[in-house]
Amino acid sequence: MNNLLPHKYKAYSLHNFRSIEYMNRLSEQELFDIEVVGNVFPFKVSNYVLDELINWDNYQDDPIFRLTFPHRDMLVEEHYNLMAETLKNGAGKLEVRTVANQIRTELNPHPAGQMKLNVPVFNGQRLTGVQHKYRETVLFFPSSGQTCHSYCTFCFRWPQFTGIDELKFAMKETDLLVKYLQQHHEVTDLLFTGGDPMIMKARVFRKYLEPFLDGTHNTNIQTIRIGSKSLAYWPYKFTTDADADEMLGIFRELVDKGFNVSFMAHFSHPVELSTEAVQKAVERILATGTQIRTQSPVLRHINDNANLWSKMWRQQVNMNMIPYYMFVERDTGAQHYFEIPLEETWEIFRQAYRKVSGICRTVRGPSMSCTPGKVEVLGVQKIAGQKVFVLRFIQGRNPNWVGRPFFAKYDPEATWFNDLEPAFEKHFFFQHEMDKETEEAIESNNKYLFN
Ligand SMILES: *Cc1c(COP(=O)(O)O)cnc(C)c1O
Ligand code: SF4
Repeated sequence: MNNLLPHKYKAYSLHNFRSIEYMNRLSEQELFDIEVVGNVFPFKVSNYVLDELINWDNYQDDPIFRLTFPHRDMLVEEHYNLMAETLKNGAGKLEVRTVANQIRTELNPHPAGQMKLNVPVFNGQRLTGVQHKYRETVLFFPSSGQTCHSYCTFCFRWPQFTGIDELKFAMKETDLLVKYLQQHHEVTDLLFTGGDPMIMKARVFRKYLEPFLDGTHNTNIQTIRIGSKSLAYWPYKFTTDADADEMLGIFRELVDKGFNVSFMAHFSHPVELSTEAVQKAVERILATGTQIRTQSPVLRHINDNANLWSKMWRQQVNMNMIPYYMFVERDTGAQHYFEIPLEETWEIFRQAYRKVSGICRTVRGPSMSCTPGKVEVLGVQKIAGQKVFVLRFIQGRNPNWVGRPFFAKYDPEATWFNDLEPAFEKHFFFQHEMDKETEEAIESNNKYLFN
C-alpha cells in the first residue's frame, strides 16, 4: 500500500528559524526583518514546504517563500519601526507581546463581524467554536484543529494563532454542536475548519465525528466538509504518516454512511500540485469516495496572474479535483501587501476563466467574504453612460439576497467591499435589512457576553 518512506514532520517558527539550512542565503537584514514581522504575524513553516516547494535559488521572488515567510513590507513603516526598535532595545517577551498586540488591534483582527454576528446561541450559551452565517452551512472550529502545518502570511485567521486567548474560537463539545444542529434542520452542511482540522490525529478527528459515524446524530447533515491546506503544506498526512490510513478510513466510513464528504483544499499556486507526494495524497483521498474542491484567494506577490490560475484550474481538474472558489484578499492583517484592485482581480479571473473549458468553470469568483455575505464581482460595465461594478451575492446573511445583481460606483482603487458605494441608488438594496440585523445581533450578543 504505502511504498513511500515515512517523512518526519518538522516545523520551524520564530524561535528556531535561523537554524533552517537555507537561511544562510539570507542577509542579516533579511533575517532581522523576518523577526520583526514574525512577531506580529504568525510564522511557521514545515520541512515539506522548505524542501519541496520553495525554489531557494530565487527565494526573494518565490511565491511560496512569500506565502510563508514574513516580509518587511507586510508592516507599514510606522509599525515596522515600532517593532524593530522594541527588539533592538532588547525588550523582554512580555513587552514584545504587548507591542505586537497593539499593532494587531490596528489590523482589523476580526473582519466581517466574525465575533459579533456569526456566533450562535444555544440554551443561553454562546457556542464560541461555531459560526452560523449562511442558512445551510455551519462552520465548526474544533479546538484541536486551531493550528496548521505551516502558516500563510495573508491568513485572516491569524488572531487565532497568536496566543490572544479571548480572540480564539474553540470548542471541545461536539455535544453542543450536535444539539444545536438537531434544532436547526435547515443546516445540511457541516464544515470543519480552523486552523486546519487535518492537523489532528485521526483518533482525535474521529471523536468529533462519532455521532455521525455511529448514526446517533439525528441532524439533517448531508455534506461534511473539511477545509484544509494540508495537501499543500503536508500531503504526507494522507500517504506516509502513521495515521494516514486511519484518517482515510474515517472519510470512507462517512461516505459509506451516505454522507457527501467534500475536502475543501486550499491551493494558492500550481507548484503546490507538482510534487509526487501531493499527487499520491489526492489519489488516496479520492479513492475513499471523497470529493476534493479547491479554493484560494488571489494575492499580490503570490498568484496575481491569469495564466497561473488557468493552469492551476486545468491541473486540478486533471487530478480529478473540482475548482470551487477564487476569493478576494480580505480586509485584515497585511492587506496592503497582498491586496489587488477589484478591477484587476476580476480581470485575472475573467482572463483565466475564458482560457479553460467548461469542465474547469465550476469555479466562482472573485468573491469577497464580507459582513452581508459572499459578494461576487461579475465585472465592470458601462450602464447608461456610467461606469459601475456589477456585483452579486453568492451567499447572503439573508438567503433572499442571493443571486440578485446590484451595482456599485466604479472605483479603480477599490480593493474591498467597504470601499464601494452604491450606484444609481442611495443605498444598496440590502442595506436597511443589514443594519437592522446587525443591531439586533450585537444587542443579543452583548447580552450573552456581558451577563
Ligand atoms: C464561505 C462560507 C461558507 C460556505 O459557503 P458555500 O458557498 O456554501 O461554500 C459558510 N459559512 C461562512 C461563514 C463562509 O464564509
Ligand atoms: S492553512 Fe488556512 S488557516 Fe492555516 S494559515 Fe493558511 S489560510 Fe490560514
